[in-house]
Amino acid sequence: MTGWTLVAPAMVCLSLAGCYERIVEPADVFGTVKQGATYSPASRMIDDWYAVEAIDTQTFAINEPNSSQYNTSYLLVGETRALMFDAGSGERPAGSRSMREVAERYTGNKPISLILSHFHYDHIADAAAFDGVTLIDRLDIRATITDGIYTIGPVESHGMEWRPLKVAQLIADSEVLDLGGRTVAVFNLPGHTTESVVLFDRYRNQVFTGDFVYRHLGGIIAFASGSDLTAYKENSTRLLHLTTADTRFFGAHGIPRFDRDWLALLDRELDKIITGAATYRYAAHYLAPGIPWRVYQNGDLSIYTTPLVAPPLFWSKWVLLFVATVSFLMLYFLLRIVRMALVPVLVDRSGE
Ligand SMILES: [Zn+2]
Repeated sequence: MTGWTLVAPAMVCLSLAGCYERIVEPADVFGTVKQGATYSPASRMIDDWYAVEAIDTQTFAINEPNSSQYNTSYLLVGETRALMFDAGSGERPAGSRSMREVAERYTGNKPISLILSHFHYDHIADAAAFDGVTLIDRLDIRATITDGIYTIGPVESHGMEWRPLKVAQLIADSEVLDLGGRTVAVFNLPGHTTESVVLFDRYRNQVFTGDFVYRHLGGIIAFASGSDLTAYKENSTRLLHLTTADTRFFGAHGIPRFDRDWLALLDRELDKIITGAATYRYAAHYLAPGIPWRVYQNGDLSIYTTPLVAPPLFWSKWVLLFVATVSFLMLYFLLRIVRMALVPVLVDRSGE
C-alpha cells in the first residue's frame, strides 16, 4: 500500500506531462533566420553584437542577432532630439557598448528620450544608461512612482532584478512627441502587458510595435498576469483602424519588418479566441514549462496563452472537472503519506 501511495501521484504527474507536446524552445523564435545571422545584408555590425540597419536616414533598427530572442530596438531621430524605443536584451557581452552608446553614434549631440515598449526583462537591460525614461501615463504607473523613480520589479519584468529608473516624463495615450521636424504618436495598447506601448510616425507611415505584435515563428505570447486577451483584441482592432494598408510595421523579435496583413490576421484570431470559436492544442513552453500552454494556430501565426491570463477563456468545465479530480486525488494521496509517516512517531511517543 505504501508503494502505491508514492507511485500513483508520480504516475499522474508523468501522464499529465505527457499530454503536452513540447514544441516551443528558444531556437524556435527565429523563424527563417538562425541565431547570429543578420536578417538584412544592409546591417552593419557594432561590437560584433549589434546589427544596425538604416530603415531610412533617420530611423534605425538595432538588432541583436545573437540574443536568445532575436531582439530589435529602434532609434528614431529628429532634428532636435531622438527617441530610443527599448534598451536591449541584456545578453550583450561584457565590455560591449550599451544601447545608449550605440544610439549616440547616430544622434550626435542630440538628447535621446527613452521609451520602453513594455517592462519585460529582454527590452529594458540598458534603460538605466539613459537620462531617465518616458513612461505612459497610467494610474497604476503613477501610483508606483516614488520621488521621481519608477522601479520595475521581477514580477513585471520576469527577470531577477529590481530596476529603479528615473522618470523623465509621463506621456498620455495618443500624445504626440515632437522630435523637431518629426512627430511620433505614442499609444498605450494593453494586451501583451498593461503598459505596452506602440509608436506611430504618421508621416513616414511607420509603426513600432514592441511585443504587441511581431513576426517570428508567429509566436504572439500572452502568458502572465499582466496579459489580457480581451484587451488584446480591442487594441489590435484599434491599431488596424489607426493604420492603412501600406503602413510598415516593425516588431521587437525576429525579422522586424512585417505588413498590416499580419496584424489583421492577429485581430481575426484574437476575435475567435475571445468568442470561443478558436481551436487549440496544449504545449509546454520554455518560458514557463511547469504550466500548460494553449496554442492557437492559423498558418504561420501562433498565439500562446496560459491559465494565468484569462481563466474563463482558458478553462472549459470539463477541464476544470479533470483538474479538480486530479488535485483532489493528489491531495488525498499526500494526506495518506503524511498520516502514515506520522502515526508510528505518535505511537512511539505515547509509549514513552
Ligand atoms: Zn514581452
